[in-house]
Parts: sequence; structure tokens; C-alpha cells
Amino acid sequence: LTLSKGLAPLLQDWENFYTRRMYHRVQDCWSRPITGPPLSATMSVMERSVVKGSYQLAPSGGKRECLNLGSYNYLGFADDWEDTCRSAVMEAVDQYSVSSCASAVDIGLTSLQAELEANVAAFLGKDAAIVYSMGYGTNAASIPALMGPGTLILSDALNHASIVNGARHSGASIRVFRHNNPAHLEQLLREAIIGGQPGLRRPWRKILVVVEGVYSMEGEIADLKPLVRVAKRYKAYVMVDEAHSIGALGKTGRGACEHCGVDTADVDVMMGTFTKSYGAMGGYIAGSKELIDYLRQNSSGSVYGTAMSPVVVAQVLRAFEIIDGRDGTDRGARKLQAIKDNANYFRSRLEDMGCELLGQQDSPVVPLMIYNPGKVAQFSRECFDRGLAVVVVGFPATSLIESRTRFCISAGHTREDLDKALKSIEEVVDLLKLRYGKRWFG
Ligand code: PMP
Repeated sequence: LTLSKGLAPLLQDWENFYTRRMYHRVQDCWSRPITGPPLSATMSVMERSVVKGSYQLAPSGGKRECLNLGSYNYLGFADDWEDTCRSAVMEAVDQYSVSSCASAVDIGLTSLQAELEANVAAFLGKDAAIVYSMGYGTNAASIPALMGPGTLILSDALNHASIVNGARHSGASIRVFRHNNPAHLEQLLREAIIGGQPGLRRPWRKILVVVEGVYSMEGEIADLKPLVRVAKRYKAYVMVDEAHSIGALGKTGRGACEHCGVDTADVDVMMGTFTKSYGAMGGYIAGSKELIDYLRQNSSGSVYGTAMSPVVVAQVLRAFEIIDGRDGTDRGARKLQAIKDNANYFRSRLEDMGCELLGQQDSPVVPLMIYNPGKVAQFSRECFDRGLAVVVVGFPATSLIESRTRFCISAGHTREDLDKALKSIEEVVDLLKLRYGKRWFG
């Protein structure tokens, strides 16, 4: 859509109206402070101020116990933290304190972090790995270190903001291919190689194809095999962001590559985060030794950002041990089975209800379409009143008419939890008339 000069301010005003005027009437549905660990999501009650009209914490300091259906606690390490990671974390606090207060290249690399980097590399079958204190920064800081002017990034249309911002910041040329569409990727690769850089008669210095393992707003698993095959056919490098798939997908929790049967030798840059399945913070990149050495010296996250908190590293190391079965129990295997069973059970029950869902079997992310932006806040509030903490997503994160709620299912949910939640969700679905699935597509 090309906007005439006269129309642009009108749309801007519309956006301002939506985000400023309307948002303060619905803001109780987002950023509700939680007052405990994520497993139960004890949430602060927000009340609308009579004077200002906007939402604030209830003066009574009210709290509501909720079942959390919105956090990325995929393997449930927040639920059984006492029994799984607590002692390792407490030992690390005693030995290292909370932060090393320096970047990893200066004096901030703890021996625990070095151990974690070796662990990530071994887990993924790569030569080496580097970890960063933030998942967002892992993409935002490492893509600009690898790519720059004269290079080309081919990015899936629904890639996460951290990838988009990293790509833009790099100064590379960017082409966006249709979501999860290997044929369109191939078309762009062919055009890129025949066309080269505009104005320059030489091919791109390098081409990087970037996709995610599981798309967090769609719950969709990437069609990795054909995407990687196409990229390799045109000698492009491949980067896969496994933020939502590492630990949550694949027979042994090794993510979307394992789930899709992709040879990790074909994935040059394996990225992931510890904020989801590991119940922690931070991100990693695994790849060849040259790549990791280069990132260590050249990515701003490594040079200018403080290293990961040793306390958090201890949590991730312990979670790895459990996922791998190196703790001598089958807890990890049971968690991996539980997340799959729970996600598939929850999805099929919602489908039977006639809801329209996005994503697919085995994905821990289950988005339910609300469509109508006017129903988003009510969905959240009705769930909250029934003791369910849910994430609702609308404009500007989706287009205006593609509002949805996005459930994240965990290995820590019991069948009883899910049944109770489904009963409440069914009430809300009826109240808001959200059985679109059968009527439209059934
Ligand atoms: N990549 C993807 C695909 C994500 O969904 C997210 C955030 N959920 C990130 C990166 C950023 O990770 P973090 O939240 O750990 O900073």
C-alpha cells in the first residue's frame, strides 16, 4: 500500500489513538505483576482508576492465584525447581555471587560459563558455542557481527523482532521470503544470485538464510528440511533460532532440527535461548570453532555486555544434566514425553471444541484465534476471573484482525490442570462466540 502524503498522518493518528487511547482501557491485561514463581502465577489485581481512567495496582494489594498458561516454562523447571535446580543454583550464589560484573572477554567469564559453552556445543554436536546474558541480544548482537554491507540476509516473514533488528542493524541487504515457504526462498535465492547487488556486477559476499524452529505467535514448526536443502543448494549459510524448540521438541530435546531430521552439519549458526525450556535467562550460538572464536572477539554482546550471571548458568547446566539423563534418573525423558503429550492433548481438546487454532501437533505453543480486537481484553479478563493467566496478542504484534490468545503448554501441567483450564476456556469461548473452527473450516 502506497500512502498518499495526506493519508499518512491520518493513519499515524489512528495508530496513536489505538495504542494510547484504547490501550489504557485494556492495559490490565498486560504487564500484571506476578508475585511468585511462574508456575502458579500469583498475579496482582489491577483496578481502573476513577480519576485517571487507566489501570493501576489495586489499592487493596489484591492477588489472584492462577494456573499459568502463558509462560515459556516448557519443561516445567519452574514447577519442580526445589527438587531439580535449587541446590546447584544456591551453590553458585555462594561461590560466585550474582554477577561477575564484567564482559566475558574482560574478566567476566566464570568457569561455570565456560563449562556451559562446552556443554551446549556437545549437546548440539557442534565444535563450539558461546553464550550471552540475553536471548534477544544473542540475535541482535551476533547477526551484525556476521553480516554487513555487501551481504544478503534472507529472512522468514514471521521472524522474531530480535532477528529483524539484528538484520537491520547489520547494514546487510534484507529480503523477506514468505513464511515457511521453501519455494519462495528458492525464488529469492535465484534472483539474488543472478541479480547480485543492485549496481554492482558481482555476487553477494555471503548470503544468510534465517528461520526459527518454532514460531512463537503461530505455534508452527519450521519446514526445516526443504528450507535447509534449498539454502545449501545455493551455497547460502543457514541460521536457525531454536528459542522455542530447544529442550521442547525432538526425541531427546535437541529441538526442531532433531524433530525434522535435519543434519546439524548443514546449520551453520545454531541459536537458542535458555528462557524457555531451561527456566532461566540468556542465549547461545553454536557452530564451528572459527565462527565462535570470531563472535567472541567481535560481537558486541560478548565484548560490551556483561557475561551471564553464574547463578543462571548453574540453573541451565543442571537442567542440561537432567534433560540428558546425566543425573542418573529418567526425569528428563519423562519431561520430554510430558510436554509432547500435554501439548497434543490440549490442542486436540480445543479442536474438538470447535476453536480455530494455529500451529501443529507436538508444538508446545497453541494459539487460539480471537480475530475481533474488541474481544481480546474480555478474553483475558474472563480467564483471569476463572483463575487462568493467559497471554493475549493483538495489534501491533499481529495485524488488527488477527488477534489471538497464545497458550504455552508445559511438562509441569498435570492432566487435572489442563482439564480444569479447558473447562474454563470453554465457558469463555462460548461467552465470546469463538467456535470459528467448525463453522468456517469444519
Ligand atoms: N528468538 C525468539 C524466536 C523468541 O521468541 C525470543 C523471545 N521469546 C527471543 C529470540 C529472545 O529471547 P529472550 O526472551 O530469551 O531474550
